This record gives sequence, structure tokens and C-alpha cells, in this order.
Amino acid sequence: MLSNVRIVLVGTSHPGNIGSAARAMKTMGLSQLVLAEPRVQPDGQSIALAAGASDLIKNLVVTDDLASAIADCSLVIGTSARSRTLSWPMLDAREAGVKMASEAQSGPVAFVFGRENHGLTNEELQMCHYHVCIPANPEYSSLNLAQAVQLLSYETRMAHLAMAEKAEEDEPVEYPSQGQMEGFYDHLEQTLSHTGFIIKAHPGQVMNKLRRLFNRARPEQTELAILRGVLTSVDKASGRK
Ligand code: SAH
Repeated sequence: MLSNVRIVLVGTSHPGNIGSAARAMKTMGLSQLVLAEPRVQPDGQSIALAAGASDLIKNLVVTDDLASAIADCSLVIGTSARSRTLSWPMLDAREAGVKMASEAQSGPVAFVFGRENHGLTNEELQMCHYHVCIPANPEYSSLNLAQAVQLLSYETRMAHLAMAEKAEEDEPVEYPSQGQMEGFYDHLEQTLSHTGFIIKAHPGQVMNKLRRLFNRARPEQTELAILRGVLTSVDKASGRK
């Protein structure tokens, strides 16, 4: 799913930033890097700064303009160091991560980053569904390009991890039927009678208390199967068929 999240760098002029952006992406599980009308080509400095993420540099795609870099994306979020450059729907970085992670489930989506010296043009910003501004120090709000990539990739990863955890929690648990529980209690009683733990003539409250215990624990299907296996192994060891 994170493989659907594209990072588009528009008009990048520093090869080092391309490498650092690749590293920022790979550490967060992103892999699709696109350079739209770059002012420079990736070079040795890009590879050096990419470190273990040089595969992203080798696989990056170069396009003539932003439009062709995002043509197949269903969600495009543009970034800006200034809030409200235009009046446009704004997201904070956390909300942007959540939107990206969730829409990436159905297809390609993109974050768009601007030029080191003057960001994205108004025309480019107008190609985006939302704008995101990292609320930095108002006296100096311009992050290094690759660091902005790092931060938004991180938010996307966090949102993705939260979604995956939630999906796991929502997996339905299968509980045994009442009939299966009765089958287990019968088996338990027979085994315990055979071992002599329950004396048939004076059974006392043992089975009631065991029922209460297993009811409280509410074993899942798989756990009940283990308990049945335990009883069967006791039966075998004690010579009962
Ligand atoms: N002087 C430019 C800053 C460009 S910084 C301007 O005023 O727009 C290069 C790129 O890094 C930006 O285009 C944006 O993609 C990203 N960036 C830097 N700081 C950011 C911030 N606070 N919020 C969001 N993106 C930021």
C-alpha cells in the first residue's frame, strides 16, 4: 500500500536533495520517486546521500512537468512553506498522512514538493486537491526539501501502521458454540473422573467451578481445540481410550 505513495519533486536544483529525499522515503517504506522538470540530474552526490536507498535513485522517473507526474493519481497533496498561499483546502501534516495512507489502498497518490528557492507555482498548487504546510517557526518556516519529505513520509507511515493495527484488531474472533463447550465439559469430567480427581460418588462443586472459570475466560475456537488436545493426551497417558 505504501508503494502507491509517490513523492514528486518539482524543479529540484540540488542533486544532494534528491539523494536525501530518497533516503527519507526508503526509511519510511516509500519507493516511488518522480522528478518533474528537474534542474539537475541525479549524480554521485545524490547516490552518496541516498546511502542505502540508491535503488530509489536508479528507479526514479523523470517527467517534463508536474501534470504528467501526477496524471494517474487519485489524490494529490501539494506542500508549501507558507500557509494559505492561495485559498485552498488545507491539511496539517498529520491529516495529510491519514488521507494518503487511506487513499493509497485503492491506487496511486502523490505528495508534491517545490523548488528549493521558490517552492511551487500557483498553477502547480492548483493541480493539487489539498495543500499542506508544516507549521514551523513563523520567523523561519522553510524546511530543507528532503526534511520536508521525511516528515510527510513519516506521517504517512504512522497513519499506515495505525490502520494496519486497527485492521488486525477488527479481525473477527471465532468462539465455540455452546454445544462445543458442553462437549468439552463432558470430556473434562470424564477425564478427571478417570484420573481420580473427581470422585463419581462425591463430585462436589468441582465441575461447576470449572465451568465458571472457563466461561469467564471465554476460550476462542483455537484455544478450545488446544484444551481438548490436552485432555486427549491425559487420556492416552492414563491408559484411557
Ligand atoms: N522559499 C520557498 C521554500 C521552498 S523549500 C517557499 O517559500 O515556498 C522547498 C520545498 O520544501 C517546498 O516547496 C516544500 O515542498 C517543502 N517545504 C519546506 N518547508 C515546508 C513547510 N514548512 N511545510 C511544507 N512543506 C515545506
